[in-house]
Amino acid sequence: SHSPSSVIIVGAGVSGISAAKVLAENGIHDLLILEASDRIGGRIRKETFGGVSVELGAGWIAGVGGKESNPVWELAAKSGLRTFFSDYSNARYNIYDRSGKIFPSGIATDSYQKAVDSAIQNLRNQEAESVGDHSSTSKVTEPPSTPIELAIDFILHDFEMAEVEPISTFTEFGEREYLVADARGYEYLLYKMAEEFLHTSEGRILDNRLKLNQVVRGIQQSRSGVRVVTEDGRFYEANYVVLSVSIGVLQSDFISFNPPLPRWKSEAITKCEVMVYTKIFLQFPYKFWPGCPEKEFFIYAHDRRGYYTFWQHMESAYPGSNILVVTLTNGESKRVEAQPDTDTLREAMVVLRDMFGPDIPDAIDILVPRWWNNRFQRGSYSNYPIISDPQVFYDIKAPVGRIFFTGEHTSERFNGYVHGAYLAGIDTSRAVLEEMRKEKETEDGSQTQL
Ligand code: FAD
Repeated sequence: SHSPSSVIIVGAGVSGISAAKVLAENGIHDLLILEASDRIGGRIRKETFGGVSVELGAGWIAGVGGKESNPVWELAAKSGLRTFFSDYSNARYNIYDRSGKIFPSGIATDSYQKAVDSAIQNLRNQEAESVGDHSSTSKVTEPPSTPIELAIDFILHDFEMAEVEPISTFTEFGEREYLVADARGYEYLLYKMAEEFLHTSEGRILDNRLKLNQVVRGIQQSRSGVRVVTEDGRFYEANYVVLSVSIGVLQSDFISFNPPLPRWKSEAITKCEVMVYTKIFLQFPYKFWPGCPEKEFFIYAHDRRGYYTFWQHMESAYPGSNILVVTLTNGESKRVEAQPDTDTLREAMVVLRDMFGPDIPDAIDILVPRWWNNRFQRGSYSNYPIISDPQVFYDIKAPVGRIFFTGEHTSERFNGYVHGAYLAGIDTSRAVLEEMRKEKETEDGSQTQL
């Protein structure tokens, strides 16, 4: 056992680190950060693959160039992070069919417009329905059915719906997205943040207020404090807990609460949808795809929705690396996570031979992240439906006694993004500080009465 801390932060991802930093800046130095894995960063994670640094989790700084400045973009500028502008606008002109032909731009443009229009119409119908307005002559839209329609539907819905519904990230911070391609990784931003309040030396955090490999399994609270129990049987005590684990981890009941979370809380947690998003990296002996920037993103149209649909080459960021990235989501992600990587490689090769012909070489290496099966993640990020009950969000964010919730899923405007997690951490710590102030006032007040 240890002497009680003021605040225990569970999780050392972006939100946990930004929360801890705000507390430290406000004079709370007896804090403790408990992290289940052996590193900080959480869903920001680099790995060396094919001789370069690739990002298995967050890869882009999204929302740049707008009226407001994205705080993560500012951190990146301050740290000198190496980034590349991603131009997605060409992707729709690089849609391949199964015989390797690229759809003519006229057809691609028309299909794209049709998909956007029908998504907007669907949204209007849903909106009308949610307010009980059945009178409006809601046009019935045809669901996508041809391979090109399915491919575009996947791009629109499983990536960003910016064309359909304004997304705060893009309306506030700008429409540009920058790929992070830096040997130090996206996670370098976290080390820079940590450096400001934790003891570090030569790029390593040596501060004993950060405890790695501490898997939290229980949180008990009483009127006067909180006790956090770990898998290896240790416990830590504090006045408050800031819980930054993902919505997927909360849904998995990995952490037990005593007393149990109130019903409004656990019900809200169940209601939030978790996206699985998987970037599969493939390395080749040589480049057989067009390496120009206009062809950086390309699309494969198959009759199964989301089947190896969205591709990117890494020539802009890492010329000569001979790496391709394909993105899968949800059902396809879970399917691929469950099979050996050699099967996934074989599937990807069939797709690539459809697009580029039978003579291309086999990939020499593959990397398949497993965000769904990682018990400290259980998915990639939260996805609140566009038309959703705001109460669900408020309940997910709301504290329960001395337990305060943070993480990307508690960011009202920017959930699902690094900057959302970063701002959520700041926000939650401010709420904790406010609560501490109130509690101190009550204490002082009762003392004066004596
Ligand atoms: P996390 O980073 O998950 O931090 C929570 C921490 O808690 C983790 O370190 C975890 O190990 C720890 N933990 C979990 N359970 C326990 C426990 N029981 N005890 C102790 N510790 C525990 N965002 C973008 O802005 N741009 C992108 O391009 C982008 N792409 C993405 C691609 C992928 C594949 C993924 C997975 C995410 C992507 N995101 C992207 C989202 C972004 O990564 C997240 O929103 C953000 O990193 C979440 O930070 P967080 O602090 O909320 O959670």
